[in-house]
Amino acid sequence: MGRLHPRAVACRVQNAALGTIERVRRFDARTCPCCGWHGLRFRSFAVLERMRTGAICPRCGSFERHRALASFYPHFFARRGIRPARVIHLAPEPCLGRIVAAQCELYETSAYGEASPANLRLDITCMDLPDDSCDALLLNHVLDCIPDDTPAIAEMYRVLRPGGLVLAVVTFEHGARTRAVPVASNSLYRVYGSEDLSEHFAPFDASSVNAAAHLSAAARHAMGIPEVVTVVALER
Ligand SMILES: [Zn+2]
Repeated sequence: MGRLHPRAVACRVQNAALGTIERVRRFDARTCPCCGWHGLRFRSFAVLERMRTGAICPRCGSFERHRALASFYPHFFARRGIRPARVIHLAPEPCLGRIVAAQCELYETSAYGEASPANLRLDITCMDLPDDSCDALLLNHVLDCIPDDTPAIAEMYRVLRPGGLVLAVVTFEHGARTRAVPVASNSLYRVYGSEDLSEHFAPFDASSVNAAAHLSAAARHAMGIPEVVTVVALER
């Protein structure tokens, strides 16, 4: 085994201690909306620069944004009074599968260039799908992580039925225009901005939504969700 960074060691020790405490007694201080786990604290996660505490669910591996989305998707569809017939989840996060599947008639996953199991292998810039063939596309940190999103926007518009939706978590800045960023290890190509959102995603009707807006501060605290998780909603 290679030598672990001290932060990774601290992280493991902390997580192991939490696991031990939770085995001794039942806690309901935190709950995961993705898998129903209850416990004392979400687990820590070490990245190069820092350690994030209270980040990850020990049962399903959900992070903060996944827990926000698990609560947001049902709320969003219910508020609009829609139950999409066919939803395709691109680069699917397994911890969200059960939640999304319950919101629609047909739930399909697509993984492109990855070995992970999925129903489809769609290249978002050239999708092997007929025109007007699905009702919603879900994709998180995909659009901001591809070199050119122009063909992806055109393709998503083409395959969606009129009234169809894209719900996408992207790196986002309020009060700014979309800009390219130097590509580092996280494969981020651009940060989207509120100022040119409609222009950038034309011909879609584009808006930004806070996936945590419907939750009280107490509910966010219990589910380990930050105050703002921006989702870009594109309506055909
Ligand atoms: Zn979980």
